[in-house]
Amino acid sequence: MSFDIQAIRNIAIIAHVDHGKTTLVDALLNQSGTFRDNEEVPTCALDSNELERERGITILSKNTAVTYNDTRINIVDTPGHADFGGEVERVLGMVDGCLLVVDANEGPMPQTRFVLKKALEQGLRPIVFVNKIDRARVEPETAVDKVLDLFLELGADDDQCDFPYLFGSGLGGFAKTEVKSENDNMKPLFEAIIRQVPPPVGDVKKPLQLQVTTLDYSDFLGTIIIGRVHNGVIKNGQRTCLIKEDGSLKKGRINKLLGFKGLKRIEIEEANAGDIVALAGFDEVSIGETVACPDEPKPLPLIKVDEPTLQMT
Ligand code: GDP
Repeated sequence: MSFDIQAIRNIAIIAHVDHGKTTLVDALLNQSGTFRDNEEVPTCALDSNELERERGITILSKNTAVTYNDTRINIVDTPGHADFGGEVERVLGMVDGCLLVVDANEGPMPQTRFVLKKALEQGLRPIVFVNKIDRARVEPETAVDKVLDLFLELGADDDQCDFPYLFGSGLGGFAKTEVKSENDNMKPLFEAIIRQVPPPVGDVKKPLQLQVTTLDYSDFLGTIIIGRVHNGVIKNGQRTCLIKEDGSLKKGRINKLLGFKGLKRIEIEEANAGDIVALAGFDEVSIGETVACPDEPKPLPLIKVDEPTLQMT
């Protein structure tokens, strides 16, 4: 099943370590698919064995997909630290929005600053989530002020500075637009994502283009490419070619196409422009290369990467 581009949102989640990314994504997963128009949120959304098993995974998966009504939200994790491979830039280049998670007590910290700077440079408009407001003696509004100061300091434009913000608790599984309002679920956060993050841009009628953003490996499938379909449609079994960095072409075939469902990868037959997929079929692959249509191979521009820096400020 391939999703209509209008029903996809691609967001990165960014935060300082321990500010609660994993727990928050877990809460979104637990409530994923449980809301329907005009329907009350079930008090216990989590009593499926499958979800419980997924919850056993404590690290945040690099790619997670959750659904809200009929929209699929692909959530991509972002490393919070400087690296030498430009992974932060690549991940941010795959999404159309980002969710900035900030601990209500600590406010923005060095990694918040590092990743936020990159996100702002990419022109993304972050949604701010002030987390852990269930704790005693927190001042969530002060955290929002500090986040705004940081935006200004990092040279955010007017639109970016006018960021939507929510308060909540990943642990408690709730989000709200005002500290004092009553709410016990993540609905406001799902809605903010749907409303604020634009659907991806891409043309299903154009020849296939997918940029290799992340590489993974499985004993069973070999090298696995993860990336966003920029244009066209990608199909299992399809003949494709890989456009190498030097412009040379390497023909190949997609012998497994995978989509994301919760924290798992599931086999799919096809996916449209805008979606994020994993695929196997090429062994010698490098980050930044383009998987394309062999009849009309056109590379996607390489994502520019800043000089690596070890400083986190
Ligand atoms: P990450 O490093 O950003 O992925 O952070 P985690 O999700 O692993 O959370 C770090 C710690 O903060 C863990 O001990 C969580 O249980 C705790 N934590 C996360 N969210 C909340 C929250 O909303 N309220 C409280 N009180 N603790 C939280």
